[in-house]
Amino acid sequence: APGEPLLRVSNIEVIYNHVILVLKGVSLTVPKGGITALLGGNGAGKTTTLKAISGLLKSERGEVTKGRILYRGRDVAAGDPAELVKSGVIQVMEGRHCFEHLTVEENLMTGAYTRTGGRAEIARDLEMVYTYFPRLKERRSSLAGYTSGGEQQMCAIGRALMSRPETVLLDEPSMGLAPQLVEQIFEIVKSINEKEGVSFLLAEQNTNVALRYAHYGYILESGRVVMDGEAKALRENQDVKEFYLGMS
Ligand code: ATP
Repeated sequence: APGEPLLRVSNIEVIYNHVILVLKGVSLTVPKGGITALLGGNGAGKTTTLKAISGLLKSERGEVTKGRILYRGRDVAAGDPAELVKSGVIQVMEGRHCFEHLTVEENLMTGAYTRTGGRAEIARDLEMVYTYFPRLKERRSSLAGYTSGGEQQMCAIGRALMSRPETVLLDEPSMGLAPQLVEQIFEIVKSINEKEGVSFLLAEQNTNVALRYAHYGYILESGRVVMDGEAKALRENQDVKEFYLGMS
């Protein structure tokens, strides 16, 4: 079961370009060993929340203007992404960013760049990634640009794992993938969570699948958390069913 809080976001406000207020006081907690889902429709602010945490907002002229972001009690709101990776937090961006002109294995190796460990350790981690993603092992020598959407998503997650993260911020893993593949990716996330103890904060529009794999969920609407709770309780909630699960 999920344990102590690792990440605490309290009441953050985010503004783009000095004028566009996008997050209007978002608070959430990510416990150690948990899968936490950040749900909500297009433009609700999920990606912005992840980027506020990982430090990737600045490159988009976004700024956290209020509130606090603490990781293991340390203020990370003003931190830079590379520092955060060293503290154990890494973001997998929406749209499966892989280097198209590198092979799958070279892509995975780029994930080890912040590591201090030696070659043997990195080789072990590569094997660890291949145990979770046997498909990537088969495709290890292919250029990432020539692999399928599902394989690129696996590659992006695998690369993040190569930094030996404690917490992964995973943005919209289901995007553009066929239902069966979405299920497969979530199964892998679940087993990484269970076997490696990696915590996940998962932004998803696909409420249905996310709430089947997550322990806890937050629902965002127009930059505010409108509901949160245990995944099971959210799945059974009448409003969630009606507005997010497409059934009543
Ligand atoms: P999606 O699933 O589409 O990514 P989301 O919930 O992740 O949705 P965000 O991408 O965080 O939502 O966007 C929230 C709001 O912020 C949207 O209205 C969007 O237009 C706006 N926004 C996002 N990035 C920027 C930016 N760089 N500059 C200005 N506004 C932005």
